[in-house]
Amino acid sequence: MTTQRARICKGCWQQMRVPVPLHGVLSLPFRMVGIRPSRMNPNTCTICELMFTRVMRARKISIDATVLFADLRGYTTLSQSLPDDAVSGLLDTFYDECASAIWDFDGLLNKTIGDAIMAIFNFPIQQPDHVRQAVLAAREIHRRCHARRADLVRAFGSQGDQLGVGIGIATGQVSFGEFGRSHRDLTAIGTVVNTASRVQSVAGAGQILVTRAVRDGAGPELAEREARAYQLKGFETPVELFAA
Ligand SMILES: [Zn+2]
Repeated sequence: MTTQRARICKGCWQQMRVPVPLHGVLSLPFRMVGIRPSRMNPNTCTICELMFTRVMRARKISIDATVLFADLRGYTTLSQSLPDDAVSGLLDTFYDECASAIWDFDGLLNKTIGDAIMAIFNFPIQQPDHVRQAVLAAREIHRRCHARRADLVRAFGSQGDQLGVGIGIATGQVSFGEFGRSHRDLTAIGTVVNTASRVQSVAGAGQILVTRAVRDGAGPELAEREARAYQLKGFETPVELFAA
C-alpha cells in the first residue's frame, strides 16, 4: 500500500490557516528557505518542528496525548546469528513500516530506541480522537508487518517466522519539552510514557495491550473488552490491561 502524504502542512493549516506546500513545484520556493517535510511527521513541516521546539525550550508544556510503544520481538535472538547489514536492514524495514502506519493516523514518530519505537498522538497535529487514532495505528503496524512476513521468511529462513511486534498504549497528561542535559531531546515524559513502555513489555508478539483509559477513550468497539491483571515493573499493584 502506498500512502498518500499531505500536500500542504497539516500543522500550519490547523494552527494558522496558512497553506504551506510540502511537495511538487509549489514547494520549491519553500524548500529554498529550508521549509520541508518534518522527519518526525512528513504531514507537517520544519517550521512546525521549530515552532514547537522553541515554545518547548522556553517552558515545557503539559498536553493530553496518547503514547504508543512498539517493539520488534524475536529480533535479539535473530540478530545474533545474522550479519550486521542484514540486522540493520531488518530494523530499517520495521522502522519504515511503523513510521508509515503512525503517519497514516497523524501521529508523531518521536523516537527509535534499539528495536522499539515511541509515537505520540495529538501533537503537533491536534486530534480530538487521538486515543482511537493510536489504536488504529497499532493495528496498521501489525497489518503492515504481517504483510512483510513472507519476505522475512525468505530472507531469514524459519527464524524470520519468529518475528512479531508487541505494542502498548497509554493515554493522559504528558509533559512535552526538551529534556536531558548533554543531549537535549524533544520528547514527552511522565507516568503515561512510563506506563505505555511497561505495557508494551508485557504484550506478546502480535498483541496490542492498552490501559483502561485507552479502552474507555477508543470508542464503543473496545467497550466490551475484559480486563486481565498484569504485574508491571515499577508498579506496586497489578494493572488491568485490555487487548485491542
Ligand atoms: Zn507547518
